Amino acid sequence: MKATILSVGTELLFGQVTNTNTVYLSQQLNLLGIDVMYHSTVGDNPERLADMMKRAFEDCDLVLTTGGLGPTQDDLTKEIACDVMGDELRPHKESAERMKIYFDKLGREMTENNWKQTLFPTRAHVFPNDMGTAPGFALADEKGKIVICMPGPPREMVHMFETYVSPYLEEKTEAAIYYRMLRCFGIGESKLETELLDLIDGQTDPTLATYAKDGECCVRVASKRRTKGEARRAVDEMTEKVKARVGTYIYSYDDENLADVVVRKLKEQNVSIACAESCTGGWFAKTLTDLPGVSSVFDRGIVTYSNRAKVEELGVSQETLDAHGAVSRETAVEMAQGLKQKTGCRMCLSVTGIAGPDGGTEEKPVGLIYFCAILDELMICRKSEMRRMGRAWNRNYAVLNMLDMANELLGK
Ligand code: ATP
Repeated sequence: MKATILSVGTELLFGQVTNTNTVYLSQQLNLLGIDVMYHSTVGDNPERLADMMKRAFEDCDLVLTTGGLGPTQDDLTKEIACDVMGDELRPHKESAERMKIYFDKLGREMTENNWKQTLFPTRAHVFPNDMGTAPGFALADEKGKIVICMPGPPREMVHMFETYVSPYLEEKTEAAIYYRMLRCFGIGESKLETELLDLIDGQTDPTLATYAKDGECCVRVASKRRTKGEARRAVDEMTEKVKARVGTYIYSYDDENLADVVVRKLKEQNVSIACAESCTGGWFAKTLTDLPGVSSVFDRGIVTYSNRAKVEELGVSQETLDAHGAVSRETAVEMAQGLKQKTGCRMCLSVTGIAGPDGGTEEKPVGLIYFCAILDELMICRKSEMRRMGRAWNRNYAVLNMLDMANELLGK
């Protein structure tokens, strides 16, 4: 099945609203084994919307729209879809009843234009809106082409898609798709692709694709077969091959992010953790404390940005700072050791580096970062030298390195 995602709304064309609906729908359709051929965006203009919809159906069997289902004059998606598919609008009893209950609950009067939202094409399969007022619908024409219209607000659209549209589409697609997202750290996308090139080139199903994302890489292994079981077996076999080649870099086989993996292991192994951060300014602590329930393992994060703070808070010696500088392996080690002494936590991590854009020298360029991680009696140190990346990228990459070191100590 080939699909176009058609977003409706002048605010999208003006760049006032980021088109998150299209990103979400693309991912979901992909999972259902539906090929997304085009993304289109059109303003609240009936002629252009009709034109876009007709053009989309020249190539595709399925068009999904979001937006323009509201009660106001410029919300015309339903009317246009009905017209393009050769149907007409009629009152839809269940939607009218649901709408009345919705407004009764709010204690508000329904206005005439709310009734407009309870009219539907005669052949429509209506999807209730549990999060708002505008229901969605699917409408097929006599050739089997289908338009699916959903509301614009992402919260409403996502709920409608998950609850009603996805099961509807699952019934229409003949194939079952299964995929795994393998997440890697410490290997660049080009090296990853080189390691897997013959597998990528030689396979039509399962397919392998590599992606780079904010300092990490992913490998997507996907299969489309007659049943989900067959697809899963094919993906598992291919995953084993990928693991044999690049397994040391893979930290999750189930699309779990690195912070989740680390916190899960800290909890499973009952390991307390503290961090001393310089160039990341608390980002690592923020990343961990973004996760609910981390208080059972996270003790504290100390931001020791200045040399004075490193001495006062962590007991880094002035001699070490004078001899090697704040950005050095020696300082990173003393930071982690000082933190361990201070907190008694089983796992202590430190980071010190030059995030940029200023502050670099020939000997110590921007992007040079040192790390130390201790777990009980074990200690590992790391140096990262990523040049020509921006400040935000360097800091994010530093946090990922810290997570990766924690993961390594906890056992990959
Ligand atoms: P409503 O009943 O809220 O008017 P609607 O279906 O008419 O629903 P729109 O008026 O087109 O939806 O959009 C409402 C809001 O939803 C927009 O102002 C925007 O904030 C958000 N929205 C619409 N389309 C998108 C999109 N493609 N991606 C992200 N947000 C969107």
